[in-house]
Amino acid sequence: MPVSENCVFCPINVNKEQAEHIVGDKKNWEFYVIKNKFPAVSLDNPKAYGTQEVVIETPDHNKHLDDHSEEHIKKLLDVYAKRTEVISKNPRIEYVLIFKNDGGSAGASLQHSHSQIFATEFLPPHLFDKSQKTQSYKLKYGTCVFCDVIAKERKSPRLIWEDKNIICFAPYASIHNYEVCILPKRHIDNVTVLNDAEKKSFAYILKRVLNAIDNLGLPYNYYFHQVINDEDQHLYMKVIPRGSVWAGVEIGSGLIINPISPEDAASFYREEIK
Ligand SMILES: [Zn+2]
Ligand SMILES: [Zn+2]
Repeated sequence: MPVSENCVFCPINVNKEQAEHIVGDKKNWEFYVIKNKFPAVSLDNPKAYGTQEVVIETPDHNKHLDDHSEEHIKKLLDVYAKRTEVISKNPRIEYVLIFKNDGGSAGASLQHSHSQIFATEFLPPHLFDKSQKTQSYKLKYGTCVFCDVIAKERKSPRLIWEDKNIICFAPYASIHNYEVCILPKRHIDNVTVLNDAEKKSFAYILKRVLNAIDNLGLPYNYYFHQVINDEDQHLYMKVIPRGSVWAGVEIGSGLIINPISPEDAASFYREEIK
């Protein structure tokens, strides 16, 4: 198996004392979860209380996530669910963010395929605002805004793919080039309640979306929007290729110029995943 002598995520170097969770044999593992060596939050910092973990997605130094089988990606979703469950048992934890940076300009400091789980004792203000908007939509219309969006996007030119469990589309008025949204059709609020069939469908489409982004030659970020114990929320994943740099207009005015329409992005992905 390809290894790099200096890589801290390669099996020969991984810090066994920092291990939080291992999938597979200790020596011959498939996934290795460790504490983040340079955390922004920690359980012994009262001013920035939280946890930060790294999920090493493969022992292979050179393989990207989308090089792996759907089965392997499904297992990664199992790891996300397991860690979210364990971390959220701490009653002080309010928010668990799962994310991945792939490629230097997407913020990844290490090449070896990994993602991160970042948990804090407060819901970030931006998400608090979002959750209030979701609640006021529900008060007004009696339904979940995301369930309504799913019903609408199924029939739109922004649809990329769907099966009975999962839907994938390019969001209306996307702010990033080739942005993708993946949601379970069932109204659930976090990854711990995804069932096996949903995870399989999720892995199927995620692998293909990441392959397509790879073909564009772009780095990317993805993250899950999840709120534990807020049944009004609807779990979703956003995948954001980092093809554009926000410049003066975006930074100065907050007006975002995206030269790729979501309809064109969806058509690109539909071709790619055929
Ligand atoms: Zn490595
Ligand atoms: Zn919903």
